[in-house]
Amino acid sequence: MSAATTTDRNSASIDPVGAVPKQLFIGGEWRDATGGGQMTVSNPATGETLCSIADATPADGQAAADAAAAAQRDWARVAPRERSLILRRTHELLLERVDELALLMTLEMGKPLPDARGEVAYAAEFFRWFSEEAVRIEGDLSVLPNGKTRQMVIRQPVGPCLLITPWNFPLAMGARKIAPAIAAGCTMVLKPAPQTPLSSLALATVLTEAGLPPGVVNIVTTTDAGGLTEPLLRGGVIRKMSFTGSTQVGRLLLNQSADTVLRTSMELGGNAPLIVFDDADLDVAVDGAMAAKMRNMGEACTAANRMFVHRSVYDEFARRFTERMTALKVGPGTAQGVDVGPLIDEAGRSKVQTLVDDAVGRGAEVLAGGKAPSGDGYFYPPTVLSGVSTDSQMLTTEVFGPVAPLIPFDDEDEVVALANDTEFGLVGYLFTRDFQRSMRVSEALEVGMVGLNTGIVSDPAAPFGGIKQSGLGREGGRVGIDEFLEIKYIAVPV
Ligand code: NAP
Repeated sequence: MSAATTTDRNSASIDPVGAVPKQLFIGGEWRDATGGGQMTVSNPATGETLCSIADATPADGQAAADAAAAAQRDWARVAPRERSLILRRTHELLLERVDELALLMTLEMGKPLPDARGEVAYAAEFFRWFSEEAVRIEGDLSVLPNGKTRQMVIRQPVGPCLLITPWNFPLAMGARKIAPAIAAGCTMVLKPAPQTPLSSLALATVLTEAGLPPGVVNIVTTTDAGGLTEPLLRGGVIRKMSFTGSTQVGRLLLNQSADTVLRTSMELGGNAPLIVFDDADLDVAVDGAMAAKMRNMGEACTAANRMFVHRSVYDEFARRFTERMTALKVGPGTAQGVDVGPLIDEAGRSKVQTLVDDAVGRGAEVLAGGKAPSGDGYFYPPTVLSGVSTDSQMLTTEVFGPVAPLIPFDDEDEVVALANDTEFGLVGYLFTRDFQRSMRVSEALEVGMVGLNTGIVSDPAAPFGGIKQSGLGREGGRVGIDEFLEIKYIAVPV
C-alpha cells in the first residue's frame, strides 16, 4: 500500500461504511445473497440505518462451506512461512487502517472511538501473535516402552471450520479465531453477528490485500443464523465449530454438533466476581474495578458482574468508585471526550433496566445512575448499586451494561463460596496485598482466568477461556492454535 493511500485511509473525510463491500464473501468473490435478500445495519447511538447488506440463505451458507472445503487441501500445503507472512501483513494493514476501521466499528457497535482504536490494535495483535506461531507447529518423536517401536506424533489442520461471533467486539472476536485457523492451515466460514457485520466484511478486504488465497476465509452475513448454521453443523463438510456468544446459544450449538461428533471450541458467558479484601490498595482496586466493569460499557463477557467488598473498606471503596463512575461522560462514541457509548440495542438496554429495577425492589440503594435517559440512542448511565441482596436477578445473570452491584462481605471463606456460587467460570478479579492470600484465593476461584490486582486479563499471548458453563477450550496464547489442529500418532517399528 502506498503512503498516499495510507494517508487517505486515515483521513477523517473517509466514509468507512461506504468503503465496505455489502455482499457475501465466498470463494474469494463478492456476491449477492441467493434471491437478493437484504438486511439492514444500524447505528445504536441514533437508531438510524447505516446501510443494507446481503442477507445470506442456507444455500449461501452451504456454498461458503463448499468453497472452504474446496480450498482446504491446497491451503494445508502452503508453507508455514507463507501463512505466517500473510498473517503478518494483515497485522500491518489493520494498523495502517486503524482510524477507518475504528470509525466503522463505532458506527455499527457504539463504543467510543479510542476504545474502537484499542480493539483494532488488539485484533491486529492476534494476527502478529499467530504469524509467530504458524512456523512453530511442532511434533514429537520418542521410543515406546517396548524399545522397538518409535512413536511419531504430528499435528495437522483440523479442516474447514465454522466460526460464529457476537457483536460486542466486532473485529477482535473474529480475529481471535481467524488468525489461529489460518496459522494452522485451516479454511473457514465466518458468520458474524447481524448487529455488527461491517467490521468482518472490512477484514475480508484486508485479508485479500494481504494475499490470502480465495476460499480460505468466507464470510456470510445473515438474519437466519440457526437456519444457516444448523445444516452445516450436521452436514459433515465442516470439521470444527468455534463459537463465541451466550451460554444459552452455546448449549444449543453443542447439541446440534453432537450427531457428527464435531470438534468444538466454546467461548461463552460470564458472571465475574471482583473481590476487594481489607488489605487491598484501594487506589489499585478502584482502577481495577473501573477497568473490569466499564470496558466496552460493561458489554463484555469479562465484565465484573458482582463486586464483593470487605465490610471494613466498603464505604470508602463505594465513595471513591462512585465518584469515578459519576465522572464518566456518556454520549455517541464518535463525540470527543466520551467514555461511555450507547448499548447495542433497545432489548439490551431494557434488560439492564429490568435487572436494576429488580435489585432496587429488593432493597439496593442507588449511589449513581439507575434510569435510562429519554431521547434517541440506547444510552444507559454508569450505575452503582449498594447493598445488593443476594437473591437479586443481576447476581445470577450477565448484566451486559454499565451497572456495578456492590455487596459487603466479612471473611475469605465466605467470599470465595459466594464467588463460586454460579454456573459460570470465566474470570475472577481479586485485590489484596497479601501474597499468600492472593495465591490461596486465585487457586480456589472456579474460573479459567484470574486478574490479580488488575481489571484486565485479555491479551493475545495469554490463554483466554473459561471453565464450568463459560466454555470449552482456549483462544490465544501458546495453546490457541491447538484448537485448530488434530494430533496424529504414527507407529514405526524399527
Ligand atoms: P448470542 O446471542 O449467543 O449470539 C452470538 C452469535 O451466535 C451471533 O452471531 C448470533 O447470531 C449467533 N446465534 C444465535 N443463535 C444462533 C443459533 N440458533 N444458531 C447459530 N447461531 C446463532 O450472543 P451475543 O448477544 O451476540 O453476545 C453476547 C454474549 O457473548 C454474552 O453472553 C457474552 O458473555 C458472550 N461473549 C463471550 C466471550 C468469551 O470469550 N467467553 C466473548 C464475547 C462475548 P444472531 O444474533 O443472528 O442470532
